Amino acid sequence: MAKRFSPSPRSERPSGSRLRPPGSERHKLTELQASTLDVLSKAEKPIGAYEILRRVDAALRRDLKPMTIYRVIEYLDRAGLVTRIESLGAYVANSDTRRSTAHIHFWCTHCRQASTVETAAIEKLISKGAAALGFKVGKMVVECPGICAECLPVDRLSKTGDAAKASRTG
Ligand SMILES: [Zn+2]
Repeated sequence: MAKRFSPSPRSERPSGSRLRPPGSERHKLTELQASTLDVLSKAEKPIGAYEILRRVDAALRRDLKPMTIYRVIEYLDRAGLVTRIESLGAYVANSDTRRSTAHIHFWCTHCRQASTVETAAIEKLISKGAAALGFKVGKMVVECPGICAECLPVDRLSKTGDAAKASRTG
């Protein structure tokens, strides 16, 4: 005997994307993909594939092949969940890719920390430029290497010749 459930009228609210909490429509990820994303989300700075591999291995107690992790990273990249910082050869997790697809990565050439800013203004600008060329944009990522706020005093010191305090010997 089958039970009948009548749908409650309350649950049939018109759904709008604004009503959904962010992240509620996440991609269904495998354990390996989720763990890789987790490693990148917790990373203190952009990390390369081999460092990702080392951390995922430790988290899952596995001994994965580099090719495996490359494939996982590639998948997450295509899904818009992580971004490769080309000039660093390292990866960062994207906080919320649905708000805006345009990212600016500011990364420090001194300590390699990266900060990501998502901005609709840049997205508009890129879209406009692309439309003029009839160009279909794949990714909207702008990379800005430079010196972060923490390293700036150190950088200034070394430029005035008083680098002894800041630099390691060797
Ligand atoms: Zn820095």
